[in-house]
Amino acid sequence: MTEPSLQQVLGEDVADLRRRFNQLYIAVEQSPAATAITDANGYIEFVNQRFLQITGYRRDELLGQTPALIQSGQTPNDVYDTLWATLRAGNVWQGELLNRRKSGELYWEAQTITPVKDAAGKVVSFVTVKEDITLRREQERELRLMAAAFDTGQATFITDADMIIRRANRAFTEITGYRDHEVIGKTPRLFKSGRHDRAFYRQLWQSLRDTGHWQGEIWNRNKNGDIYPLWQSITAVPDDPSQVRHYVSVFHDIAERKRLERELKARAMHDHLTGAYNRRAFDDALARYVAESARDRGVFSLLMFDIDHFKQINDIYGHAQGDVVLQQLAGRIEGCLRASDVFARWGGEEFAVLLHATDRSGAWRLAERILNAVRQRPLGQHSITVSIGVAEYIPGETRRALVSRADQALYAAKRRGRDMAVASSFVPVRY
Ligand code: GH3
Ligand code: MG
Ligand code: MG
Repeated sequence: MTEPSLQQVLGEDVADLRRRFNQLYIAVEQSPAATAITDANGYIEFVNQRFLQITGYRRDELLGQTPALIQSGQTPNDVYDTLWATLRAGNVWQGELLNRRKSGELYWEAQTITPVKDAAGKVVSFVTVKEDITLRREQERELRLMAAAFDTGQATFITDADMIIRRANRAFTEITGYRDHEVIGKTPRLFKSGRHDRAFYRQLWQSLRDTGHWQGEIWNRNKNGDIYPLWQSITAVPDDPSQVRHYVSVFHDIAERKRLERELKARAMHDHLTGAYNRRAFDDALARYVAESARDRGVFSLLMFDIDHFKQINDIYGHAQGDVVLQQLAGRIEGCLRASDVFARWGGEEFAVLLHATDRSGAWRLAERILNAVRQRPLGQHSITVSIGVAEYIPGETRRALVSRADQALYAAKRRGRDMAVASSFVPVRY
């Protein structure tokens, strides 16, 4: 007895069935998802166009084969273990596999394998639908990499074209004290310190407009109100040549650098033993005062002094003790001075004080203050005295002439018995 034909069983419905089968066949064949159907033993019975495209095989190379043909051997075994356990239990398996194209190239697939059962519940075939996710995985990895770089790199925030902050990283938080959610949606005006004028910001924007870039020193206010210096670089990121999409701001704290700069500058200007200004700083200040006098007849005076019989202290107590006396003397002199006075170590145990806006009588009063302060109490264990020469600047004279007059007055004080001040006999004539 022959089996009844489909037509006989289904009657008129067979045409309808064929039509519907054709529709589904076209849908599967044209689907952007790769599809394969295997029998219960895993032998490939059907593959669609996309499957061929992804794997690089021809249809006749695949039919009758098992998917082992495209396995890379690099997917961990336990993935296949769960895959088969799931399928054998009659369930759908979903996962990602690393496979190999005919060309040898590896690629990642996201797969869904569905066991198809007959009326008795027996698995008769498997339908696999899969997608090549190699590019997506690469992009995701790239994104993760960029995100890690963004988060571990220099302090950065990204704004949109309207300067609304969209992103900020960890280093940003470390410097500013603001967590990203506290600044996202706000503008960098939040950080304004008030230290820059409008011209500064105008120039910044001008540079961003003209060159797409600005960098420079900027003082910002952090979350706890401290104002600190940054080196900031802002770059406009356009998405087509004309349209700015984002601004990326990268910055670092230069407070430490500025502190070092200040320290170096201070070191370059000060005598390391006494902390007084050094000869160079003294010369600079003197040159400034002379120029000022030439400009607006500013009055100023110079006081030079030298320790009396200092050699004895060195000879009896040693050079180190001499140094201590020099240090303590400097401290005591500082206590006699105004902030505007320039106190310098001229050399050895000789010092100078420049007195801004001070005439000879003002300088004389300071000289007496110094004499008393030094006499008053011993420095360390040593009672010392100083001799002082006083000179008021005569408009038009050279620096050297002024210093020479003060020096002569100082030596006059030495000659007359020390522990005293002598003023230069030259007095400026004032009209
Ligand atoms: P006078 O009253 O005439 O000034 O006598 P004096 O002994 O102070 O003589 P003078 O000014 O010529 O000698 C200065 C001495 O100061 C000589 C030197 O050993 C000492 N001196 C110079 N610079 C230093 C220093 O940096 N440390 C120490 N400990 N001694 C110094
Ligand atoms: Mg001397
Ligand atoms: Mg001396």
